[in-house]
Amino acid sequence: MQWYLILKNTEKQPDKGTYSDWKPIVAEECFYQCVYCAIHESQFGGIVNYHIDHFRPKSLFAALINDLANLYYACPICNRFKSDDWPDEPSLDKVSYPEPCKVDYNTLFEFDDKYSLIGLFTASKYLIHRLYLNRAQLIFERRETAMRKKVGQLITEIQAMIGQLADADLKDAYATLSKIDSVKNNLIGLDEVRRKVRPYVTGDIKKS
Ligand SMILES: [Zn+2]
Repeated sequence: MQWYLILKNTEKQPDKGTYSDWKPIVAEECFYQCVYCAIHESQFGGIVNYHIDHFRPKSLFAALINDLANLYYACPICNRFKSDDWPDEPSLDKVSYPEPCKVDYNTLFEFDDKYSLIGLFTASKYLIHRLYLNRAQLIFERRETAMRKKVGQLITEIQAMIGQLADADLKDAYATLSKIDSVKNNLIGLDEVRRKVRPYVTGDIKKS
């Protein structure tokens, strides 16, 4: 899972309709995934289940209600947690929401070895807390993505190993074999983990 910097282009502002008519445009601009947690719409039943997020909440910024530049694609969980929350104007050093068209969200976080996000700025720490970005579903998705990447790398190494076997240089080949075993065991366990994953558990969520 990764985030994308969203390119907002004022020329795209539709000249008819209101924001609820423009969900397909917003979805395309946002790469069909939640701008906050990066979960793809395919993991959540598609566009009908996704929401249009008013980055600056419509309850506080009535003039921006139909401004395409203020609209982002969000999963129902992040959208619900964000709601009308607007602690401050965006700034990485303040409790605030970084604007997805100005800040590449990939630069806001690091992952720990359990696939949890660690916030690198005051704003990203707040995002993790307020939108609960370490919920079970997201941790599972990150783990699965990492596993897929590892499988791809291993296939490349296996291909190299086959070459080494032909050259009778077996030391590196044995090292690759032990990695294959570890990834295989991790992958076998993954389906079992998925069945136990709920998007989040209400008691886990600490509202500020
Ligand atoms: Zn989300």
